Amino acid sequence: MRIHTVSPTDSFSDPGREYRASEPGVPLRCCLRKSLEGEPVWLFRYSPPFGKGPYAEVGPIFTHVECPGSILLDRLPVELLNNPRILRSYNAAGQIHDGEVVEPGSFDRVIEGLFNDPSIEAVQVRSVSHGCFFFAITRA
Ligand SMILES: [Zn+2]
Repeated sequence: MRIHTVSPTDSFSDPGREYRASEPGVPLRCCLRKSLEGEPVWLFRYSPPFGKGPYAEVGPIFTHVECPGSILLDRLPVELLNNPRILRSYNAAGQIHDGEVVEPGSFDRVIEGLFNDPSIEAVQVRSVSHGCFFFAITRA
């Protein structure tokens, strides 16, 4: 699999982005972990990849202002997968194929199953409580 993260520079496309000098505990879409005390972050509007046309949504996300991290883009990030998550799959036309709530410990198996379906192009991982986009996954 390939993990798709969000660059802090993507915040520049939102003139209404907000700078937060410290916002501990928010999920960072750049390095896919929770923010720490004293880490400056951007909060901005973002349209996640792979949803197209009417399925292209916009929602709030956080990134670092300057991301110090690097992550492995070929395996699931554990820190943002310690709670149930929504896995929303998309076809090549960018339409929603399906969605389901997945429990911790089941992500690898469920994602592998989704990508066994050739009509699925990508999967978005989202929060259950807020519906916010976390990251996207495609086949390697
Ligand atoms: Zn980061």
